[in-house]
Amino acid sequence: MNHPSTYKNKRVVVLGLARSGVSVAKLFHKLGANVIVNDKKDRESCPEAEELTALGISVLCGYHPEDLINDETVLLVKNPGIPYTAPPVQQALDKGVEIVTEVEAAYWLSPTPIIGITGSNGKTTTTTLIGKLLEASGMKPIVAGNIGLPLSDAVYDVDKDGWIVAELSSFQLKGTTAFRPHIALLLNLAETHLDYHGGMEDYVASKVKLFANQTSEDTAVLNWDDPVCRLLSPKLKAKQLPFSLYERIEAGVYIEPPYIREQADEKASDVVARRSIVYRSANNDGGDEITIMAVDNLGIPGRHNAANALAAIAACIAAGASPEGLVKPLELFKGVEHRLEYVCEREGVHYYNDSKATNATASTMSIRSLKGPIVLVAGGLDRGSDYMELLPVFRELKALVTLGETKDKLAHVAELAGLSKVQVVNAEKDAESTLQQAVKQAAAIAEPGDIVLLSPACASWDMFASYEQRGSIFKQSAHTL
Ligand code: ADP
Repeated sequence: MNHPSTYKNKRVVVLGLARSGVSVAKLFHKLGANVIVNDKKDRESCPEAEELTALGISVLCGYHPEDLINDETVLLVKNPGIPYTAPPVQQALDKGVEIVTEVEAAYWLSPTPIIGITGSNGKTTTTTLIGKLLEASGMKPIVAGNIGLPLSDAVYDVDKDGWIVAELSSFQLKGTTAFRPHIALLLNLAETHLDYHGGMEDYVASKVKLFANQTSEDTAVLNWDDPVCRLLSPKLKAKQLPFSLYERIEAGVYIEPPYIREQADEKASDVVARRSIVYRSANNDGGDEITIMAVDNLGIPGRHNAANALAAIAACIAAGASPEGLVKPLELFKGVEHRLEYVCEREGVHYYNDSKATNATASTMSIRSLKGPIVLVAGGLDRGSDYMELLPVFRELKALVTLGETKDKLAHVAELAGLSKVQVVNAEKDAESTLQQAVKQAAAIAEPGDIVLLSPACASWDMFASYEQRGSIFKQSAHTL
């Protein structure tokens, strides 16, 4: 296995600045490596360069030098977003130079066990929730990874008796070799990021790398309702603590009585209140059952969030937290901004911001989670899908207001679903006014008791800088109606 001391006085190239690039460059600099940082963006667009230059690290901006990956180079640390087709990455591949992402390098230095969370949807919610649950259990977690704080900063900041709780994207995992989380969670797998991975196979293979180095001392938390997770189960070396919304499982965390897959959530809350979250431990007599809490008392809404809560509970129990201590923080956690976030009420209509729903699966889950007639605001970056996956859930809508690159495709699916109210919003002078216009049109359709939901099913980059910007404009537009 790689050891940090291996890199002393060796040439390590960090490709891509951004927060994780800065953090990992500093990390290797501290280890005594000869660090070269390179970014295609010009110097003015790389304000982070100053800090590194001041430390004596070479930073080359605006181009990729031809001899960047020379014979002395022993390691390339690549920003997860840079494709493997980029010229310096290709050069490293040709020369047999090891290529990793920042999370791998951080793992080599981590003084504490890591809980790694991946999946197509629900990562940030589950990661944040695990952080809160461990905090309340006195277990000193630090939340890091894809969520904000780079892992290579977290390894210095974490308490030595604490835990690193790391949200991991498929891009980050693709560049790992020895990375071994003590507890690994795979929440679900939907068709997403296929443009980067070039197909579902590579995407699944990247996610599965999370488990590759686990041993029988580690734990894998798998979604028992997801067919890919089930297929994976017999291949894993780690102990398993699965979770399920739909089945009572032998040893794991589940709902009692289980949800019925084809059946939407009951509207009457007295029925839902009878569903409980149960943990059954593995032992020779078939396991002990502990009822943790009523599903209805979870602070986060929707069946998909119940699945996230089950996963978080399983991870915390595997880490040694007591199930009783998890109840209060599970009640108090209201979710993360831009994820099915309640915005306001205007003239009896309730507005929800779910801007982070950037694929069809996520939007489907959100639409099914809310009770009441829904006017959906959706559309965004076109990644080439036909969005037919949305057909069943579009049948349940009151209306669709659609904007962005995918507007005509979504309108087509809505028409096939037999939706009578479909409005296509054409681009106004800028993205902000276009979204404001969409909110106005949705508000005009909605009646008291209805919901206006922004859940785009698409990424935001056709019109906005980020999903956060899109969500904030939506919220502002709703507040100022
Ligand atoms: P990620 O970090 O994986 O993008 P988030 O927690 O930020 O996930 O949630 C993003 C969106 O995905 C939410 O707005 C919600 O619509 C949807 N979502 C959250 N959890 C799940 C889940 N377990 N299954 C399907 N969709 C989900």
